[in-house]
Amino acid sequence: MHEIGILRQLVRTVEAFAAENGVSDIREVVVDCGELSLVIPEYLEELYPVAAKGSLLQDAKLTIRMVPGLAECDDCDEIFNVIEHKGYCPNCGSFEKTVLSGREFSVREIVVPDEGALARGASGQPDP
Ligand SMILES: [Zn+2]
Repeated sequence: MHEIGILRQLVRTVEAFAAENGVSDIREVVVDCGELSLVIPEYLEELYPVAAKGSLLQDAKLTIRMVPGLAECDDCDEIFNVIEHKGYCPNCGSFEKTVLSGREFSVREIVVPDEGALARGASGQPDP
C-alpha cells in the first residue's frame, strides 16, 4: 500500500503551492487519479485524514476524479478502455497498444475559501 506516500507527497505539493501563492487556507483539493495508476481511491480517502493531519490540508476536502485508462491499438488504431477490455483490443484482439491516458496521479485543482486570495497570489507582484 503506497497510497500514504502518495498522499504525503500531495500534502507537500499543495503546501509548496500555498506558500508560493500566499494562501493560508485551503478548502478543497481535486486530484486526477488514473485508472491505470495503481492508486486505489478508497485507500486515498481512508488515509487522507492521516496524511493531512497537522498540515494545511487538515480541514480541506479531498475530491478524487477518476481518469479512464484509454489506449490506442498498435495494430488497428482502435481506441478502447484498457480495464474494461482487460488490455486486449476489442476490435482485433491485439494486446499491443499505446496507453493514452489513465496513468497519471496529479493535483488538478486547489480550491481556496477566498478565491480572490488565490488570484492575487497567482498574478503576484512584478518583483520576486
Ligand atoms: Zn486492434
